Amino acid sequence: MIIADGVRPDALARSIDGGHSPALAALRDEGQLSTITSAFPSVTGPAYAPFLMGRYPGSIGLPGLRWYDRSRRIARLSGHARSYVGPEMRFVDRDIDRASPTIFELAKPSLGALSVIGRGLRRRERIGQSAAFVARAAATHFRGNVRGWLAIDRLVGEEAALHLRKQRTRFAFIALTGIDKTSHAQGQDAQIVSDAMRIVNDTVAEIRSDAERDGRWKKMSLWVGSDHGHSPVREHEDLVALLAEWGYSTLAHPWAFNTSADIAVMVSGNAMAHLYLDIDQKTRPWWPALGGRWNDLPERLLSRQSVDLLILPSSPGSCEIHGRGRGAAMLAWSEARYSYTPRTGDPLGIGEQKSLGDDEAYDRTFDSDYPDAIVQIAHLVASPRSGDIILSAARDWDYRARYEPIPHVSSHGALHREHMLVPLLLNRLPAGIPRRTVDVMPSALAALGITAPKTLDGVSFF
Ligand SMILES: [Zn+2]
Repeated sequence: MIIADGVRPDALARSIDGGHSPALAALRDEGQLSTITSAFPSVTGPAYAPFLMGRYPGSIGLPGLRWYDRSRRIARLSGHARSYVGPEMRFVDRDIDRASPTIFELAKPSLGALSVIGRGLRRRERIGQSAAFVARAAATHFRGNVRGWLAIDRLVGEEAALHLRKQRTRFAFIALTGIDKTSHAQGQDAQIVSDAMRIVNDTVAEIRSDAERDGRWKKMSLWVGSDHGHSPVREHEDLVALLAEWGYSTLAHPWAFNTSADIAVMVSGNAMAHLYLDIDQKTRPWWPALGGRWNDLPERLLSRQSVDLLILPSSPGSCEIHGRGRGAAMLAWSEARYSYTPRTGDPLGIGEQKSLGDDEAYDRTFDSDYPDAIVQIAHLVASPRSGDIILSAARDWDYRARYEPIPHVSSHGALHREHMLVPLLLNRLPAGIPRRTVDVMPSALAALGITAPKTLDGVSFF
């Protein structure tokens, strides 16, 4: 499984059709290129969980790239908050649900290259986690060196190919992040993004030619996918500054040590955010009980152009969904049946929906502006680590104006199509229909002849 991190389905198809990615074109000719949905939040880290654990990010304890730990069981030294951007990335494996196995634990021996989730990998099965590598990546990130990311991608691709050539490996997860980094810096249509795409192509070509040479190719499944899309950002809403202006005291990265804060602001991607209210309480307060001093806040946020959807969790099985200027609806679920009921409007634009199963909920939303939003919102709201207001940004907007080494001109993280739709390229025709990234892990297990755990959110397309 190769992750071309952040590539949109149309951008990948254009590269293939334009003759710029011959190795990927060969995969498509022998198999199929599909458009499937990622998970919410559509951001690297949380959105890798479906590929590696067959579960939604909220289900395994990664509600965002940044989140606030209301329970205060962990992250005491970090202001009770997590940011996986930087050194805290090493905590991902201990933060994720212990009862949910990773594919690395089920398919041994495995390889993980730049895999944010690595539980089950031995040291020599990891690429991109040595101290020297991390130091280089950190320097590249914080200096805002965009070309440097491409050099890192080349290195990761070559090292991964070398490992697969020399070691017997059942499953490999190879993440190449150049497309995402260059897209953030210059937009996904920029020339430099084609250079990043070329590295994905060359990595596939090398792995394939090695496998053909020593007779492994006939049995090899080689898949290329992405964990989120991308779309242009023209304006940044500095949520932290905005809330301060409204008189609230905030806790937010990189300064997550405000012991007198009213609101924790945890942004991912940067087009989504969790806001945690009454953060001195160790249990989730839920709406409308929260009310009181917070009553005005949702309306005030909905007056901002940056807000597209505003989600208010009301129980582990329900929430209100507000659309800016489009009224509110209720979403309720239990035992994988979902009901969506417009109240003062229809923010998702899908009409009333009663007692849908997972596949129906997918089909009814796929062509809307919010593909798979019903299932994705339900699983995020149900996460005990999620916020009390969940924001999904409007097009052209994101939620972080400061502290990015490279100013973002393109972003992801939100629920709309440009962020949620991702490509999946398979070198063999699947028996079923690939729908979601969460289906990839069970499909990989099926291809390997490994029985899938019963706890998975996804289903095999093989
Ligand atoms: Zn990104």
